[in-house]
Amino acid sequence: MRKQIAAANWKMNLTINEAETLLYTILDANLEVSENQKVVFAVPAPYLTLAAKKVTDHSNVFIAAQNIYSKKSGAFTGEVSVTMLKSIGVDHAVIGHSERREYFNESNEFLREKVKLCLEENIVPIFCCGEALPVREVNQQNQFVQTQLEESLFDLSADEIQQVVIAYEPIWAIGTGKTATSEQAQEMHAHIRSQLAAKYGEAIANNISILYGGSVKASNAKEIFGKPDVDGGLVGGASLVADEFVAIIKALK
Ligand code: PGA
Repeated sequence: MRKQIAAANWKMNLTINEAETLLYTILDANLEVSENQKVVFAVPAPYLTLAAKKVTDHSNVFIAAQNIYSKKSGAFTGEVSVTMLKSIGVDHAVIGHSERREYFNESNEFLREKVKLCLEENIVPIFCCGEALPVREVNQQNQFVQTQLEESLFDLSADEIQQVVIAYEPIWAIGTGKTATSEQAQEMHAHIRSQLAAKYGEAIANNISILYGGSVKASNAKEIFGKPDVDGGLVGGASLVADEFVAIIKALK
């Protein structure tokens, strides 16, 4: 059965002291994360080691890198590899966030290599997809997201695809305060699941968690997560506020 997931994406925010305080406050908030749920913190690279150590005694809580490089090691100054992450106990990685696609020109093809590498090292890729506003304005969002999935994920085997978490994040809703309606989220999530079913079969499609991202906050999480094909959220801004993120975790199914 697929997991319900609250994933925090801290992006490039917080000093080490702020990061520690935020993580400790959330973990100390009497969190009950059940077996069908997961909480994930995608923290800035310099804090990964500390964060990974801190969550070891909290069940169903995990740490994610916000990015990885597409090679395992070598002369790639400044990059971080899956092998390094594995060696410090990090077991999730956000792949293909729209900010990486936009500012660092990450293509579907490049992301395909990253997803593969994650799976080789048993790191769960949280694969982000989603359309920009002009695409939605001409009602091409389904086709656009489908191409992202086909080009980055659909050469995976049936076993491999079930290790992937998909995050649908319409770019027009990220950091804008403009959330997709829960109906818009459900519609796209159902489309993504139908594509997975067409390629891999119903049973496998039903095992894959599909998160919604884009201005999720405490006040809208319950409504969005309540939709049948929405399995939680990838949360930016609201994940930087302890009370907000704790409420978002509590809104999981
Ligand atoms: P937001 O960011 O919650 O601040 O809109 C979501 C994301 O970029 O993952």
